[in-house]
Amino acid sequence: MKVQRIVLASRPGNDGEPATENFRLEETDLAEELLDGQVMAQTLYISVDPYLRCRMNEDTGTDYIQPWKISDVLDSGGIGVVEQSRHIHIKPGDVVSSFTWPWQTKCVLEGKSLTKLDPSLVDGHLSHFLGAVGLTGLTAFLGLKEKGHVVPGANQTMVVSGAAGACGSLAGQIGRFLGCARVVGICGTDEKCSVLTSELGFDAALNYKEKGLADKLRSCCPDGVDVYFDNVGGEISDVVISQMTRDSHIILCGQISQYNKDVPYPPPLPPQTEATLKERNITRERFMVLNYADQHEMGVQQLSQWLKTGKLKVKETVVQGIENTADAFVSMMKGGNLGKQIVEISG
Ligand code: NDP
Repeated sequence: MKVQRIVLASRPGNDGEPATENFRLEETDLAEELLDGQVMAQTLYISVDPYLRCRMNEDTGTDYIQPWKISDVLDSGGIGVVEQSRHIHIKPGDVVSSFTWPWQTKCVLEGKSLTKLDPSLVDGHLSHFLGAVGLTGLTAFLGLKEKGHVVPGANQTMVVSGAAGACGSLAGQIGRFLGCARVVGICGTDEKCSVLTSELGFDAALNYKEKGLADKLRSCCPDGVDVYFDNVGGEISDVVISQMTRDSHIILCGQISQYNKDVPYPPPLPPQTEATLKERNITRERFMVLNYADQHEMGVQQLSQWLKTGKLKVKETVVQGIENTADAFVSMMKGGNLGKQIVEISG
């Protein structure tokens, strides 16, 4: 059977911006005979995420993810529907997911590597398993729970960078659910700012591409910043940290502004920012959602409940077709998405 897939054609270089030319669409033959324990699944949705940028380098700089190899089929979070199965607990029609789903229209996978999904958790909107009710939602929720030190009634002001993206748009809302009094988002366009304040309940939103971020942030957060959900790092974070209060807390979620640079993770901070952290006793511990697997089931139940009751509002940017997967990734890295960037392979 002929299927389509995306392979890595070249690397952008540790300091380069990823481009669609780094990827190649191919047709390949899929063996139709399943071995014991295997399933054949039709790919439904693929997730494209910032951490994949590290997988484009020869060395990812971390031990929990491996570099992609040139000419190999690529992989990331994905969801599919089972068509044939030789696995004892998986049957045709089951919806399954994997953190290493091949960028391929149809694939043969080891059943034991798959997680069976319950579509009722997302009211049948299956792509939410890659976003609000998947690792993205868990990152926002568990990041805040574990590192945010949000205290209901304490009148805390929270700032979120990358606020209109997948994690950020959820983190702002969840920060409020957990008890923050005021939530301010920072993102890259006026249109995104307007969605944050008019649809997602943020009190204010600032476009970091316009001048005067520090002054505008000061007027949005007159008592300073108590909780900072940091998705971006770099100069934006230096500005936010300079306005943080004593004994306040940073959730070090990601540093996307540094991902096209050849620097270690987390990237070193300027001396002034380091000094501010020390003088004001600000915590800045690295958060990794994969380190909290024991809380994922609880987190998924909570996120599902917020989603189904309409409390948690979810934004997605969806592109169609395997041939557009690379474009979707490249676009997301430059801010082309509002909410979670999803590739729909087959609806
Ligand atoms: P997003 O949906 O937020 O997409 C990335 C966004 O980053 C873009 O939309 C863009 O929005 C913004 N961006 C790109 N370049 C820059 C820049 N130079 N400066 C500021 N903003 C920029 O992605 P995710 O929600 O999937 O990921 C957000 C962060 O969370 C990433 O840093 C990621 O690595 C991290 N993460 C961490 C996890 C963990 O376990 N710690 C798990 C999952 C994600 P804009 O228009 O605003 O510029």
